Amino acid sequence: MRVEKIALNGFRNYEWETAEFAPDTNVITGPNAQGKTNLLEAVYMLSAGRSFRTRFDKELIGFGYSAAEILAEVYSHDRPQSIRLLMQPGQAKKIQVNGVKKTAGELSAVVNTVLFCPDDLNLIKEGAAVRRRLMDNAISQIRPRYAEVLAEFNRLYEHKSRILKDWREKPSLLDTLDEFSDAMARASAHLIRYRASFAERLQEAAAPIHREFSGEGEALSLRYCTVSTVKDPGASVRDIYYDICDHQERHRQAELEAGQCLTGAHKDDLEISINGRPARSFASQGQTRTAALSLKLAEREIFLAETGEYPILLLDDVLSELDTRRQEFVLNRIGGGQTLITCCEDEGISQRTGGKVLFVEKGRIKTN
Ligand code: ATP
Ligand code: MG
Repeated sequence: MRVEKIALNGFRNYEWETAEFAPDTNVITGPNAQGKTNLLEAVYMLSAGRSFRTRFDKELIGFGYSAAEILAEVYSHDRPQSIRLLMQPGQAKKIQVNGVKKTAGELSAVVNTVLFCPDDLNLIKEGAAVRRRLMDNAISQIRPRYAEVLAEFNRLYEHKSRILKDWREKPSLLDTLDEFSDAMARASAHLIRYRASFAERLQEAAAPIHREFSGEGEALSLRYCTVSTVKDPGASVRDIYYDICDHQERHRQAELEAGQCLTGAHKDDLEISINGRPARSFASQGQTRTAALSLKLAEREIFLAETGEYPILLLDDVLSELDTRRQEFVLNRIGGGQTLITCCEDEGISQRTGGKVLFVEKGRIKTN
């Protein structure tokens, strides 16, 4: 799948601008603060219906504008399709595909993206939250049902956390605690089942990519970690649920004392090892970057297997963090799908790619 054309109207620093993309590599270059990431953000929104930089749609509306609009022509599932997103202050975002109203969740049936941004370089070394986000974003795009369960889980988690925090001042809150715990256990069981199978597929796809990309034949392996009483995260949802209930019962008192949720899928992690050693503690900078990018490229392979098409790969500002050999790999050897790469003009990167170069300055886009 690919994005062929985009028009931005009052979106971020774009007053009214259009861009056309090549079906393979596109390098988006220009000085700082000119709109490179904004352009990538707009393409990301075609697949997710939301930004990767803000939760607030009003931030997407150009200063002094009353609405922001993204119009795109994409080619996916063997046909041209049009997508329109309209953001207006105080109103729900409007999304249309081929003129038909859709929800944000439904966009993933039309376009998929895999985003790699500077934050993802910390995928290996940082806390578990970034790795959960990787799983959540990828699975939500492949399995719309997962996104629904995740939203439900987050709602339950917030509600239960509030009960655990405030029950001393308001003991009547405890009346509903067990009900919330049970609902959270059920939602967790579903999430865990999905995540376990995703982690397995990610491991299968990432290991060969990392072996080649590292140039050292390094072995990358992943281990999905969840609630300690879950004996087999690949078991049936029912079995997982019972295992979680077991944990819940044992930790009920501790939850009340700690004032926070101790049982559930909110602390899951994906433990990453290189040559058998936990990457979080032992990997070098270069190794962690290579591993992070391998995981993203593996995500692409999973989408291909699921949908029959490569998703659009969006790389924001990550090239400067890679050495020349790896830059070369990213610029010219990621085959198969469309890639949009942003980088600063002074890095001379645009001269080293055979792809299309888009030059961005003050919200205007010029092509060579
Ligand atoms: P860098 O190389 O530093 O990453 P960039 O080209 O990726 O720069 P962007 O993140 O795309 O830069 O942002 C470009 C500009 O957009 C910034 O100057 C920012 O102030 C501006 N901007 C952000 N949101 C809005 C908005 N809602 N309305 C108008 N301008 C905005
Ligand atoms: Mg940027």
